[in-house]
Amino acid sequence: MVEKACTKCHLLTTENVCPNCKTSSFSTDWSGVALVMDVERSEIAKRLGVKKKGRYAIKVR
Ligand SMILES: [Zn+2]
Repeated sequence: MVEKACTKCHLLTTENVCPNCKTSSFSTDWSGVALVMDVERSEIAKRLGVKKKGRYAIKVR
C-alpha cells in the first residue's frame, strides 16, 4: 500500500484520517522521509513542527 503524507503535519500513513492532527487531507506527491524518534532533540522535528514521534515526509506538495 502506498503511504500518503498528511498535508498539515507531514505524517506518513495509510489511514484515511491522520492519527496526529485528525485531518483527512493527504498528498501522494511527497519526497524524503524523516524518522523522528526524539521530538525534543530532532532538528527536523522542529523544522516540520512535529510533536509526536513517527515517520514524516520532508516535502509535501
Ligand atoms: Zn496530520
